[in-house]
Amino acid sequence: MFMWATSFLSLVLLFPRHAAFSISKFFRFLDFPINRRLITRHARNDGETAFLNAANQTPLNDTDVLVVGGGIHSLIYAIHTAKLSPGRTINVVEKAGSPSYKIGESTLTTFGLWLKTIGIESPMLWRLFGPKDGLAFYYMPQNGDPENYTGFCANGPPGDFVPTLQIERKISELMLTLIAQRMGVNVWHGHSVDIDNTVLADGGSKVPVAGKQVNAKLVVDATGRFRRFASKEARLQRFDGWNTDAFWGYFECPVDESEIPLDHYESVNTNHICLPEGWAWVIRLPTWEGSSIKNLTKMINYLLDLNYAGVPADEIPSSLELARMFGLKFRWVVSIGFALRTDTEYPADLSSYGSCEAEQRFNWITAKYPKMAGLMSKHKLVRDLYGPGTTWYIRKNLTYVSPKVTGNGFIAIGDATGFTNPLYSPGINANMGTSVAAAELTASYLDSEDAKGRAESMQKYEEYCNGRVDGLHRMNVFNYVLMRSPQLGPLGPLWQYLSGTGMPGWQKMRTYDFNTAGDILKNWDWGAREPEYAEFADSVIKMLPGKPSEPVDPEIEQLILNMSDAKVKELVAGGKFKNRWAGLLRWYNDSLIRSETKIDKDILARRCSKCTNWRLLTGDRKCATCGAMNKQELSQKVMYN
Ligand SMILES: Cc1cc2nc3c(=O)[nH]c(=O)nc-3n(C[C@H](O)[C@H](O)[C@H](O)COP(=O)(O)OP(=O)(O)OC[C@H]3O[C@@H](n4cnc5c(N)ncnc54)[C@H](O)[C@@H]3O)c2cc1C
Repeated sequence: MFMWATSFLSLVLLFPRHAAFSISKFFRFLDFPINRRLITRHARNDGETAFLNAANQTPLNDTDVLVVGGGIHSLIYAIHTAKLSPGRTINVVEKAGSPSYKIGESTLTTFGLWLKTIGIESPMLWRLFGPKDGLAFYYMPQNGDPENYTGFCANGPPGDFVPTLQIERKISELMLTLIAQRMGVNVWHGHSVDIDNTVLADGGSKVPVAGKQVNAKLVVDATGRFRRFASKEARLQRFDGWNTDAFWGYFECPVDESEIPLDHYESVNTNHICLPEGWAWVIRLPTWEGSSIKNLTKMINYLLDLNYAGVPADEIPSSLELARMFGLKFRWVVSIGFALRTDTEYPADLSSYGSCEAEQRFNWITAKYPKMAGLMSKHKLVRDLYGPGTTWYIRKNLTYVSPKVTGNGFIAIGDATGFTNPLYSPGINANMGTSVAAAELTASYLDSEDAKGRAESMQKYEEYCNGRVDGLHRMNVFNYVLMRSPQLGPLGPLWQYLSGTGMPGWQKMRTYDFNTAGDILKNWDWGAREPEYAEFADSVIKMLPGKPSEPVDPEIEQLILNMSDAKVKELVAGGKFKNRWAGLLRWYNDSLIRSETKIDKDILARRCSKCTNWRLLTGDRKCATCGAMNKQELSQKVMYN
């Protein structure tokens, strides 16, 4: 096998013109995880890299902060630090030649809030990204009976407050790069750090980057799940019990979404199809794939200018108008993938379900649940959306935690500190806390005159991170075990909304600005560490051991339902957790009592009367996608009650 691979690579070196195509085919055939890395390297467009790097204001020299990795947390951190510590030099180095494909598309209120606090408003964001109005869940029974499923549905924040978005990561990272560069942060693409030859030291590290040595007072490990510096400090830890594997692809929905056979289905929600084995996400988002980085950059810079000038939303060109103005490709796709427990029992032979592992697993689990199969029958696979060999993706053992997040002269942020699962999108939205906390630490670290002061800053950050991923892991397990029964499933999101949006800090959301939002951004994790939540989740997890295929004992099921009813009643009456529950949630009243006839909730989104794409209702009439002017009365949100 090794010989075979070596001969193949020699051929590639001899015939580089065909390399990207051939490599992708070869590794797709082997279902080998290295393929995308090789393709990216071969497909790198040096002209685009130079174009992006030319916007940096100074050369890459010795720096106060060197951020290794140019992903979403790196850029959030760099922008936040630039605002908190003006005058400090910040350099971000990213090994990819330009922002490129990543999974992680659904964002929540905290990300929208942070964007707002740095001056980025909804109208420009809705031109670049998909609008999102909350989360919907469908819970399927073990036998797949399509008549016996339950649901849960919650709105997102109103569009006139902050946007929640479905983001294509190439575009979000490009937008954040341009914002950072405007603030004086240098973002260097095509710059790989030689980790093994980096000498980390308190107060000053020596880092080899792209053929030169950069001295940095503080190094930030923002290398995501690769944990390039954190991994040298300590091996990653896994939790006891099952982990989860994800596999996914991209689809089109050629029919009107009203044909999708799920009650109240709206593609403006992040939709979750929950099964005893785990769940599927269904996320509709626009893609600009196929557009050049140069033209995308020009468009985003144009939008940033309009944003900072405060141009009214109805005067900003729509996505389709922008695509025409800047020579870009724009279309809607649907990201659909599963995150299943590793104790899922797959048939020994899946070969009839597809040609690679991701496709086989995807098609097998889809076929097992008629409602999921019904949903997929309305979608059409998009092949190779993000380049050759990118039709199917798989990532295994998603959950891990970095036991140490600081070391001599470095701190880790984002996924380099740990990750659990895409359920409830903690990756960007809860992990944002690490980027914000690290930015605050940076200010005190750089201001410290001596090693003791710097060590104290590092210690504070270790304490901040301690227990974060553990809390998210408990939240994840709690929700997964409840998915084994459609009667229990909705208790998962019910407790998330109770704890995560009922908590006191959340109620003050509308009052926050850059100077006051730090606490909620650092500490919001869906309420996963609120003591009342933790206690209930722990007891439910203990009551539901067993494999996904094992039916839940009806007595245990009833006991959990009764426990939850009593506890929720007590907590709502106690007044610690407050919200306009009836406006926020379908099927629940203000006391969080469920009724199958209470269908209505706040109306925060409608479909455009011309192109039928979803619009968040703010009073503005222009459709962000097609530019049609909708009627005023169909552009206002309608509050329940
Ligand atoms: C299946 C799945 C679905 C998900 N869905 C969601 C979701 O819907 N919502 C959500 O919030 N989160 C989601 N996530 C999580 C989300 O993808 C991550 O939390 C997020 O991308 C982490 O960002 P990051 O900046 O920490 O790391 P990354 O985005 O991985 O960035 C790390 C960067 O470091 C660079 N790098 C690595 N080594 C070097 C080096 N030596 N030199 C220079 N650069 C280097 C890499 O090229 C990369 O660009 C999902 C995750 C998975 C697995």
